[in-house]
Amino acid sequence: MISRIDLRGSLPGDLREVLPRAELDVEAALEKVRPICEDVRHRGAAAVRELTARFDGVELASTRVPAAEISRALDELDPAVRAALEESIRRARLVHRDQRRADTTTQVVPGGSVTERWVPVGRVGLYVPGGRAVYPSSVVMNVVPAQEAGVRSLAVTSPAQKEFGGLPHPTILAACALLGVEEVHAVGGAQAVAMFAYGTEECPRADMVTGPGNIWVAAAKRLLKGRIGIDSEAGPTEIAILADETADPVHIAADLISQAEHDVIAAAVLVTTSVELADAVDKELPGQVAATRHSERITEALSGRQSGIVLVSSVGDGLEVVDAYAAEHLEIQTADAREVAARVRNAGAIFIGPYAPVSLGDYMAGSNHVLPTGGCACHSSGLSVQTFLRGIHVVDYTREALAEAAPYVCALADAEDLPAHGAAVRARFDWEVPS
Ligand code: NAD
Repeated sequence: MISRIDLRGSLPGDLREVLPRAELDVEAALEKVRPICEDVRHRGAAAVRELTARFDGVELASTRVPAAEISRALDELDPAVRAALEESIRRARLVHRDQRRADTTTQVVPGGSVTERWVPVGRVGLYVPGGRAVYPSSVVMNVVPAQEAGVRSLAVTSPAQKEFGGLPHPTILAACALLGVEEVHAVGGAQAVAMFAYGTEECPRADMVTGPGNIWVAAAKRLLKGRIGIDSEAGPTEIAILADETADPVHIAADLISQAEHDVIAAAVLVTTSVELADAVDKELPGQVAATRHSERITEALSGRQSGIVLVSSVGDGLEVVDAYAAEHLEIQTADAREVAARVRNAGAIFIGPYAPVSLGDYMAGSNHVLPTGGCACHSSGLSVQTFLRGIHVVDYTREALAEAAPYVCALADAEDLPAHGAAVRARFDWEVPS
């Protein structure tokens, strides 16, 4: 069911070349989403509604969900799901509240200071997936950090669902109601990202769009980045597990399956020093897969070229492999898991030991589940309060402090052949360089 790569012996120079990764990459999806985004740019809400009819089979009268539908969804929410969502929100708030940053002022010289002032983004669009699965948990993971950062205007969007009268899934609407979100749109895919980037008659332009999504959503974020701010490219999900002979193959198989459940191109990778563990996981997978609801999707994901078992000769080599892979989710299931985890350089989130499965992080750990995929964890972080803040440098110098800096400014301005830069300082001192 799952392929094997043997890297015992010496590791290849460029590990990324040999590690499993999805064939359908974001780069390839760019050409498909470009006309979708252009259409929304030129024709606004009419294009968004037509694309929703094409991709989601729903004719929308307006992309905006009426307020009455949002509160009705909360009234009709299963009490057990409501309690779970409330607890998820409570835990996420605890973690994200601690991420807030205070402004810092540095006294550079007497009379000269720089303050870094943290200011929330003005308006954000929050994407909540809803194609193959629906993700009310992603409402929590998007909205809580944005609210804790102090964002004033936020809008949630999620695909229109045919079986729910063209509205987003009712649990998504109920989660919005629990969090006090009033603006919700029934739009998914690349057209949702374009709607926020360009604005339409029904949805004002946003400064930033965040949230996980499929390959089309990730491609639209890459295409429109710059026109609109984005978080990481949180695309089709990935799990990597670094394990040794102490790990339980039943847990490992269950965790690989739980991520493969998201998408046919979800990636599940086990990196292990133990051939016995690899064999035991191989043996365990078919039974667990057969017993679960989405076994077809899971089989496709596990047998795809993006998934596999990688054999290594030491935990040290395993760390090199997982660092090169830079997984969205990385579980460490080894002896001394905490110590091994502390040596990891690249991962969206790290889960330590047998009692921190990724699905805890998906819903209830308090950590954020919107995380970088496709190797982006080597340069990007998951969603946090920081995502929604910008640090503005505020420069405050007195005449005396500028006078002291002036000779240096003029010297560097001359060295760069930008004499007007020096002149802007000299103008304040009767066109002389103060000495
Ligand atoms: P989705 O909401 O991301 O995508 C559904 C939309 O895709 C539809 O509304 C439709 O408009 C568009 N679409 C479908 N087929 C298309 C096509 N052929 N061309 C253009 N557009 C098309 O929902 P999904 O499909 O269920 O995907 C959710 C994804 O989110 C999964 O891949 C999952 O792994 C991922 N996810 C990632 C994270 C993370 O943090 N990285 C977290 C949760 C979920």
